[in-house]
Formats: sequence, C-alpha cells, structure tokens
Amino acid sequence: METKQLSSKTNILYMGSEPKLPIEHPETPPIYHSTANIIRDMDDYDFASSGGKYYYSRTANPNRDGVAEAVSYLEKGEQSLVCASGMAAISTAVLSLVKAGDHILASRSIYGETIELFDNILKKFGVEITYSDFTDIDSVRMALQPNTRIVYTEIIANPLIEVVDIDAVAELAHRAGALVVVDSTFTTPFAIRPLEHGADIVVHSLTKYFGGHSDITGGSITGSEKLIKKIGANFLFLGGCLDPNSAWLMLRSIRTMELRINRQFENAKKLAEALQADPHVQYVNYPALPGHPQHRLAARIMPNGCGAMLSFRVEDDRSKVNEFMHKLKLVKYLGTLGGYRTSIAHPATAFRHEFTPQKLKEMGMEEGLIRISAGAEAFEDLIADFKQALTVFKPV
Ligand SMILES: *Cc1c(COP(=O)(O)O)cnc(C)c1O
Repeated sequence: METKQLSSKTNILYMGSEPKLPIEHPETPPIYHSTANIIRDMDDYDFASSGGKYYYSRTANPNRDGVAEAVSYLEKGEQSLVCASGMAAISTAVLSLVKAGDHILASRSIYGETIELFDNILKKFGVEITYSDFTDIDSVRMALQPNTRIVYTEIIANPLIEVVDIDAVAELAHRAGALVVVDSTFTTPFAIRPLEHGADIVVHSLTKYFGGHSDITGGSITGSEKLIKKIGANFLFLGGCLDPNSAWLMLRSIRTMELRINRQFENAKKLAEALQADPHVQYVNYPALPGHPQHRLAARIMPNGCGAMLSFRVEDDRSKVNEFMHKLKLVKYLGTLGGYRTSIAHPATAFRHEFTPQKLKEMGMEEGLIRISAGAEAFEDLIADFKQALTVFKPV
C-alpha cells in the first residue's frame, strides 16, 4: 500500500500488511504472529466478545487456542492453557492454587526442577511442602495435613519407572479437601487420562511427547472451566505464554502424535522384553513386564500401554557405561525425552550435583542404571544397536 502523499518513512510501516488475495480456505491454519489485532469499534474492546478476544497476543492468540483445544480434547478436559514450557505450566498452575500457610504434599519422585520450584520459591512465600513415597498409599495418607491444598504427583516416576495408584491418591486427597495436580508428561493421554482418575489438573511438558521432535518447548494446564479460569487470570500476569510460531508447530506435531506414540509404546515393550533376556542386563524397569512390582496396578490404570520410558541396570562401572554410550550407533545420549528417535540418559550423572553418591545409591540411581526413551525406529534396528553395544559389559 504505497501512497504518494506519505513519506517513505511512513509507507514502509504500512506496506505489505494487507493480504493481496482473499485467502479463505488454507489447508493448514496460518501463524498469527501479530501481537495485537486492530480494534475497529469501541465496543470491540471487550475481552468477552469474539472480535476483541484477540486484541493482544499474551491475552489470547489463535495458534495457542488451537493447541489448547487439541490438548483439552486428548485429555478430555474442559479447558486448557498453553504455556511457554512445562515449568511455566507447573509454576503457573501451582502458584495460582496456593497461598501462604497452605501445604503441598508431593511425591518424592517428581521432576527435579519441580522440587526446586517448590523448595526454592514456594517455601520463601510461606507455603509448606512435604514429600512422601507415593507408591505406598499409607505413606500418602499419613502425610496429609489439615492445611493440605495440593497433592502433587506424576503417574510414572523417573528413573525407576514406578507407578502411582492415582485413583487411590485422588480419593485420599479429595477426602482431605485437597486438589490433585498430576504431571502426566511421561504417560501422555495415550497411556492414561488423569482427569478420568480423579485428578483436578493435569500438566504436561509439551516439549516431550506432544512436540515429539525435540524442536519445540511448551507446556499445558488442563482442567475444569472453573479451575482454568482461576489459573488463567494469573497466567496473564505471570506471562508464560507459548509464542505463536511454536504453537503452530506444536499443533502440527499433535496431528501425528498417536501414530508416533503407538510405535514408541510398542518399541518400549519389545525393548523391555529383549533387554531382560540379554545376558549383560541385570534387570529392566518397565511396568508392562509381569515381574514389575506394580504390574497389576499398571495393567489396570494403563491398559493401552505403559508409556515409552524404561530403565535397565548393568554393572556399576562408569567408564564402561560411557563406552556403551559411545558404541551405540543410532541411539544418542540426550538431556530430554519423548522424541521420535530413541535416546538414553544416565540418571547418576544427571543428578550428581543434587545428591551425594551414597544418596543416589539409596534412591536406586546406581552408576549402572540407564534410562531409555523409546523412539519410532524399526524394532530390529533398535535392538541390534543395543545388543552390539551391551557387549562392553560383563555378562551377569
Ligand atoms: C521435561 C519435564 C518437565 C519440564 O518441562 P519443560 O518443558 O522442560 O519446562 C516437567 N515434568 C516432567 C516430568 C518432564 O519430563
């Protein structure tokens, strides 16, 4: 839109911003980068009306709304908020639901940075936090307090792949008048939908399985309209909203999530079985294996598969574990999980700054413990890669 009457300084600000064609039926949604939409009428400046809803991108953005709709659909929740990261989702949800004097009862086996959020930030503002063993329902019962406001857990605990009986936890929490917040990143809605098992809020690091390609950071909060409204008010002030570009990529990734996840779950189960039979492996942690201590619980709450995370134990020799990592040809050592390619992690290295070697051992994170995030490769290629690399270890 060049106008001869205007200065070039002004023209450059306006040209190219009007679409040349009426593009009305794109096969994929456009990316709404615009941080604001023009308010054409005074009455449009109204958050509730559709015209005004998108007046500012942190408040509402069509790409973010698209992701929220998809996550709500998969989790069978009424509404969702889409955040800039899993940690933005967790901090926004939890900060919105507690006040000074409240107590949070959390599983001791939750994501490390969630523990740091609780201990380093929430405690400073007078929120009391205690941790207990959520695989033992009596320990949860004993740890509840009259001021417990949130019971916080994951369903599959890292890195020992322990399973939490979410139905029992939710029942106890609700009887004590507390809300149940579940981080379901490891499980995904294809293994379990926590809201159907009594959770009030489910959070995800969308960075992992939803994104699925190790190229987008994001998070989500899903729950009833009432709770999401309450959290949404703070979401505006805390400001951890996902940017439109990442939201567009996220929705694209979610389209094929089930296809990826089905293969990943299947590969995890086959890997668990094959590794258990390998002479170099001492044991495998995967709840679909009949020998897993919580196999029956897992089969009851996750009948369609127990996720794509597993871990296994070899001899406790740090340099051999390192050699094993080098010897793997396809599988890479990554500080993330949930991607379409199989990756491994070494918990004793990941947690070496947080815990002493003695404490790590007590927690089951021995030098010989290796975690796998199963990808979507052909199983034969995957197991062949593990088998040839496992020969660095002594047979059991
Ligand atoms: C990665 C992860 C998070 C944090 O998510 P970010 O997107 O990295 O902020 C939280 N919980 C679990 C279980 C995770 O794996």
